[in-house]
Amino acid sequence: MKTVNCPHCGQEIPDNAIVCPNCKERCLSNKNRIVAACLGFILGVLGIHNFYLSYTTRGWIELGCSALGALLLLKGYLDKSTALLVIGIVVIALVYVAAVVQGILFLTRTIGRDGKGKRLA
Ligand SMILES: [Zn+2]
Repeated sequence: MKTVNCPHCGQEIPDNAIVCPNCKERCLSNKNRIVAACLGFILGVLGIHNFYLSYTTRGWIELGCSALGALLLLKGYLDKSTALLVIGIVVIALVYVAAVVQGILFLTRTIGRDGKGKRLA
């Protein structure tokens, strides 16, 4: 049987445990992987899926990169600079691709835990 460490007490527990047999804390996240994946596919450039799963650092990085891309787009538009427009689009597109990949990883359970270490429902 596959085991993991309890996100609360650190004891080794079965991977499919809903409640830790040692500390009695809930180990199953109340966040749903399908909801997280859909958020990634729809609002991925804003990092919403990562905020939903308590991966706040990743969420802020994605949001920051998208904001940077949007600023480059705006600057490129105002300065009539094709290079800045292209760079802005590429930055935003890369953030979106990363969000879609994360969504797929949620659906395939490759990322099976939320930011607090609880197993995704
Ligand atoms: Zn525990």
